[in-house]
Amino acid sequence: MKPKKVLQIVRALDFAAWAHSSQRRKGGAREPYVNHLTEVARLVAQATGGNDEKLIIAALLHDVLEDQSLHVTDEMLLENFGERVAKIVREVTDDKSLPKAERKRLQVLHAPHLSRRARILKIADKAANLNSILQTPPKDWSATRKREYFAWAAEVVAGCRGVNAWIEAVFDERLGLGQF
Ligand code: ZN
Repeated sequence: MKPKKVLQIVRALDFAAWAHSSQRRKGGAREPYVNHLTEVARLVAQATGGNDEKLIIAALLHDVLEDQSLHVTDEMLLENFGERVAKIVREVTDDKSLPKAERKRLQVLHAPHLSRRARILKIADKAANLNSILQTPPKDWSATRKREYFAWAAEVVAGCRGVNAWIEAVFDERLGLGQF
């Protein structure tokens, strides 16, 4: 990999760790949020054989716009990481002004219209979330809530399929472990 690409990936990791520094995952282990970002980045890197640094960077930054309390703007992404990365991040960002149920419905609806890269990222994100629920579920989640999350994630991923066999297999394996 070219030195410039390595530098961009490391800058994105540093940016993400800084932006999410006060956040924790909602799972029982309360892992630092950045652990989720590095898992998703690792998954998309493996899925693409390490050949798509823009996608790895977008994976590290994929949640940075959604939480407005982080004060990261689209302009900051554009300026630091360029239009192609900003576009992927935008594609996978929910509109937080909408109620949660509506955001979830829209994710299912929008999935088939995402770019190839955004679909790989979406599947990796959902695979990482399933793993978190399997390994360190939020303490207040009932079996029903876990089942519902798994069913919804499967619906979103159904709209993303046909882009990368490896990441789809990782997702399916985790989905199969969700016997709640
Ligand atoms: Zn995520």
